[in-house]
Amino acid sequence: MTQENPALSRLNEFRRWLYNWITKTLRPPQTPAEPPRVEGPYPDYVTCPRCGELEVEVWSHEKAGRCHRCGQTFEYPLPRPEQSKPTH
Ligand SMILES: [Zn+2]
Repeated sequence: MTQENPALSRLNEFRRWLYNWITKTLRPPQTPAEPPRVEGPYPDYVTCPRCGELEVEVWSHEKAGRCHRCGQTFEYPLPRPEQSKPTH
């Protein structure tokens, strides 16, 4: 038979209250995560259609890219075969 010590019970209650108060007070305010924003032109890395160089840097606002490896100039953005669907 276990009898709860009223003093101990009150102490535990106080501890619980203190814990809640501390966590509530110290918890940083919940701010909604901002969606990633793309500002201005940014460099994109495309695969050279001629030599297959993987990291050809093309800026997002450019109309064409130039491979630093083979010197091939290509249109940008590159036409992606998986996205080009026949339009009627
Ligand atoms: Zn190339």
